[in-house]
Amino acid sequence: MTTSKNVSRKRSAVSGAAAATQPAGPAHRSPLTAHAVGTGTDIFAAMQTLGHEQVLLSHDPSCGYFGIIAIHDTTLGPALGGTRFWQYASTDEAITDALRLARGMTYKSAVAGINLGGGKSVIIGDNKRADREPLFRAHGRFIETLGGRYITAEDIGTSPADMEYIKLETDHVAGLLGLSGDPSPVTGYGVYVGMKAAARERWSSDSLAGKSVAVQGAGKVAYYLMQQLHAEGAKIIVTDLDAEKVRRAVQEFGALPVSPDVIYDQTVDIFSPNALGATINDGTLPRLKVQVIAGGANNQLAEDRHGDELEKRKILYAPDYVINGGGVINVYGELHRWPVERAKKKAGEIYETLLRIFEIARRERIPTYRAADRLAEQRIAAVGGLDRMWMGER
Ligand code: NAD
Repeated sequence: MTTSKNVSRKRSAVSGAAAATQPAGPAHRSPLTAHAVGTGTDIFAAMQTLGHEQVLLSHDPSCGYFGIIAIHDTTLGPALGGTRFWQYASTDEAITDALRLARGMTYKSAVAGINLGGGKSVIIGDNKRADREPLFRAHGRFIETLGGRYITAEDIGTSPADMEYIKLETDHVAGLLGLSGDPSPVTGYGVYVGMKAAARERWSSDSLAGKSVAVQGAGKVAYYLMQQLHAEGAKIIVTDLDAEKVRRAVQEFGALPVSPDVIYDQTVDIFSPNALGATINDGTLPRLKVQVIAGGANNQLAEDRHGDELEKRKILYAPDYVINGGGVINVYGELHRWPVERAKKKAGEIYETLLRIFEIARRERIPTYRAADRLAEQRIAAVGGLDRMWMGER
């Protein structure tokens, strides 16, 4: 998708080690203080351990741009992952985050059954910065140098308007204004069908009628989830920091409101985290009196060992990156100009995928989060194996 507008540019984003040819002006100094620029991470060792293909750094002194792109695995297709704009304390921290998030995207897309690999980019700096055009155009130029190996989208600190600036420099961007739009309806639907799969595994019936669900966060994803739960006759207990969102859930779905600090103490069938990450941790785990955890939030387990602990306590955990895969499916749909109904249908497959994961977990006596990784790795290995057959000159 390289366009003439892009190849004709004289200055291109620099990949490899950050390489400034002139010192940054006073207005655009590195957002990292000199002492904070760590040298501790052995990047090749990390890449080897985690299985990354490529890590690139770029610096544009004209606008104080410091960007990193990590490509984890492109067996299934171009690496997709959003751009995170964050004031990291050090370069090490930013690279580590990019590596970790890129790997997560490989697994997420692999189990979602879409033809995308995993990648992520980060921009280091103050994400409230007002002069966004040069910054995001610099980022777009950096992405363009990869010729489509990496496709970006929105993430923490970025918006659809920022994606429009990126689009001025590269076609390898999704989440544009007026295209796929808000992914939450598809994500919420995927969480709902995933919750039904978990119910089937736990209670031998996927009906959620009469089941009690404690919903943490009443934002965009939770709204669409609760809509479905209410229609099916589930009992909803809800919390959010935003009283207006709680009020809406009470009015529209007959939800019972509780304060955010007691959501972990509810004696209910299902806990559904849809707000923050790391909510399943040493402090909350002993308080949970539920049989299933199924929610849309990313990175729900503070550490892997909390997934092991859930298993020991016989709480069925629907792995986060599987059940919230509707978001990445929606982006994939945008890239392929799918109507939203097709994306929703694909998200409906999360039901079967989770049943397979629960089955692997049972058969191999491993926690469900590990079974999810296994399924992702199986798909990557199976599709990667196809390359062995020579297809003639293409
Ligand atoms: P959102 O901002 O619309 O909703 C999150 C809600 O959580 C907000 O209303 C916020 O007030 C509330 N909240 C924050 N801290 C809380 C706390 N301590 N207790 C109770 N409520 C709290 O975000 P969203 O788009 O609905 O996403 C929710 C989660 O799902 C996030 O973790 C996000 O990363 C993940 N996710 C979203 C999508 C998507 O399509 N939007 C896709 C995949 C994953």
